[in-house]
Amino acid sequence: MTRALNFSAGPATLPEPVLRRAAAEMLDWNGSGMSVMEMSHRGKEFIAIHAQAEADLRELLTIPANYKVLFLQGGGLGQNACVPMNLLRGHAGADFINTGEWMKKTIKEAKNYCKVNVAATAEAGGFTSVPKFDSWKLDPNAAYVHICLNETIGGVEYHWTPDTGAVPLVADMSSNILSRPIDVSRYGLIYAGAQKNIGPSGLTIVIVREDLIGQAIPHTPSVFDYKQQADNDSMYNTPPTYAIYIAGLVFKHIKALGGLKAMEEHNRIKAAVLYDYLDATSFYSNPVAREDRSLMNVPFKLRDESLDEAFLKGAQGRGMVQLKGHRSVGGMRASIYNAMSVEGVQALVAYMKEFEASHG
Ligand SMILES: *Cc1c(COP(=O)(O)O)cnc(C)c1O
Repeated sequence: MTRALNFSAGPATLPEPVLRRAAAEMLDWNGSGMSVMEMSHRGKEFIAIHAQAEADLRELLTIPANYKVLFLQGGGLGQNACVPMNLLRGHAGADFINTGEWMKKTIKEAKNYCKVNVAATAEAGGFTSVPKFDSWKLDPNAAYVHICLNETIGGVEYHWTPDTGAVPLVADMSSNILSRPIDVSRYGLIYAGAQKNIGPSGLTIVIVREDLIGQAIPHTPSVFDYKQQADNDSMYNTPPTYAIYIAGLVFKHIKALGGLKAMEEHNRIKAAVLYDYLDATSFYSNPVAREDRSLMNVPFKLRDESLDEAFLKGAQGRGMVQLKGHRSVGGMRASIYNAMSVEGVQALVAYMKEFEASHG
């Protein structure tokens, strides 16, 4: 068996030890005589798996006690509707910082629920940077300020935390959660689809300060009402049980590697291997402002885009897959999440150099 070097933006590569453990436990989890997929979510086995996953996530992110951790469905995009439904709390509108494709979707969805104030946008520069905080035109009456901490398509990441004062900060962390330590207490709400850096698709994690919930707008579906889910330990309805189990194995795996500080070190080394090369050549380029470059998603273009197909074909031949950039921006994109090894990125750069030497 040969595992591909998978640079997919999501669903994405997972740690091999986690997959092996899941395989070993597939037919019989811990003497239960069944797969986790086949268990009742109300049974003691699954309740233990769920509780352990939450405890490990709380430990990894040092989540304060006054925050609820919810394991939901509906994806990152589902949260673009759930956040206004739950967090408007009688306010007329909210603030949004437009950093690219994902925030555009967030803004579009929010318009169904409230007055949208785009307090800053990076559109003029082609979404290649995070707007400087002193340019943000925040509304003091906003229900919350919504940001995307890592724009997965554009490869733009905040390496600082905005101070929005008394207005809660909401962050979509779908593609950089658990890639480095963050201070949860600076946020009112954090959400992330699991399929980038945590586990299989189908699980959406929400971390929310408990004083912000309980005031959902009328007609909020019960399964998307944070308070109802919080009061039922995320089991108001059947949670995505198998995805929660795999996420739990990933949390244990990250803890064993040394937690989020160790992850950050590993991710910085990997990103530097790729960015240093991109900066040293004119054959390839990355358009993002240096201080805002993503540690997780690295878009790049070939100087001569007529070589794109040949580049992708050669990569495929070396077992490197999913390097094609998002259809909205073209070019290439290497997603180098936690589970991608340093050796994997070194192999990519070695191939890029070889390709440059033969086509440059
Ligand atoms: C992948 C992604 C999403 C979309 O998540 P779905 O689970 O497909 O709804 C949202 N935001 C960001 C930043 C993403 O990377």
